[in-house]
Amino acid sequence: AEREYHCEGCGISVQTEEPSALGYVPPAALEREMVLCQRCYRIRHYGEIGTVNQNPDIYLQKLGEIAGTDSLVVQVVDLFDFSGSWIPGIHRHIGDNPLLLLANKIDLFPRSTKWGRLREWLVQSARDLGITPIDVELCSAAKGLNMNETITAIEKYRQGRDVYIVGATNAGKSTFINRLLREVGGESQDVITTSPYPGTTLDAIRIPLEDGKAIVDTPGIVRRDRISEWVSPRDLKIVVPGETIRPKVYQLNDKQTLFLGGLARFDYVRGPRQPFVCYVSNRLYIHRTKLDHADVFQEKHCGGLLVPPADPEILPPWKKHVISLRGKEKQDVVIPGLGWIACGKEKATLHLWVPEGIRVMTRPAII
Ligand code: GDP
Repeated sequence: AEREYHCEGCGISVQTEEPSALGYVPPAALEREMVLCQRCYRIRHYGEIGTVNQNPDIYLQKLGEIAGTDSLVVQVVDLFDFSGSWIPGIHRHIGDNPLLLLANKIDLFPRSTKWGRLREWLVQSARDLGITPIDVELCSAAKGLNMNETITAIEKYRQGRDVYIVGATNAGKSTFINRLLREVGGESQDVITTSPYPGTTLDAIRIPLEDGKAIVDTPGIVRRDRISEWVSPRDLKIVVPGETIRPKVYQLNDKQTLFLGGLARFDYVRGPRQPFVCYVSNRLYIHRTKLDHADVFQEKHCGGLLVPPADPEILPPWKKHVISLRGKEKQDVVIPGLGWIACGKEKATLHLWVPEGIRVMTRPAII
């Protein structure tokens, strides 16, 4: 029988017949020491990517296999996009296995962040989602922050079992595993393909551990309810933050509007003058204008001054969400895949416009 090969970048079973299909490898490339499918090869060498249609059902089916194992599940969430990187109904899929919550990308948070408080916020938010993790860790896989503590926690809770790494696409699973392997095994080169584009890891990969167990990297669930899924790879570089966020403070009177590029529009409709702080990628252009002018301004400048997206046609039509803030408790208005706006302590009525299907929400302030 023919030997079956797997791509060492994304784990997919490779094939040599169909160049346009997933897992394609030119036949000669099978002779190489490290077999990479065409897609991973391109990501690694040219930074490009082909679109891949991933079926969410297949993903959930794969995730459901965890319920039948005896393992530790590590769920990686993107701390910057907490609600957008969550896996709905995670406990249904993993059975009785313990869940360690790993909040990644702490490097994006300002240095003044009170980490103890943020950790409590995480525990509470997880509980509100019906999840009781055995523990919560915070790290930056990309910058290697807090990795020792995280690895120690995994070792402690693993108790000789397999470790399943789960998460939504772009939460940083692959980056985390690469970092993990480097820290524990001295790997010099990235083994798993990472990229800023959704859906890079395509099939589960087992990375053997010395005790005969394994770290299992699972494909990420694609969440269409966040903005980052809708923009082009080029615009994604503007939308997804790559460095520590510099919060932008706006003292707004009522009847003022903020445009977050051409991706969201925030109308302060009613309430006293108060501060609103935007936590979005530093590269995203924010434009302040009068609410009375906002419609005309939008009509005229979307795709021009108000970018991304360079091509507004790629987005679903905008939908208005009416938000009432009751005051006293500080609240964040969250736009999954884009960031959030931390609101002041005063009562307020807001209109938030985002492409239809984006699941906006409010939450107690994260910082
Ligand atoms: P996966 O889809 O969950 O496997 O995510 P990847 O590992 O491919 O990472 C998605 C994107 O997030 C890539 O652009 C990474 O460079 C970036 N990323 C991963 N970890 C971190 C981190 O700790 N901090 C920051 N700022 N970016 C990260």
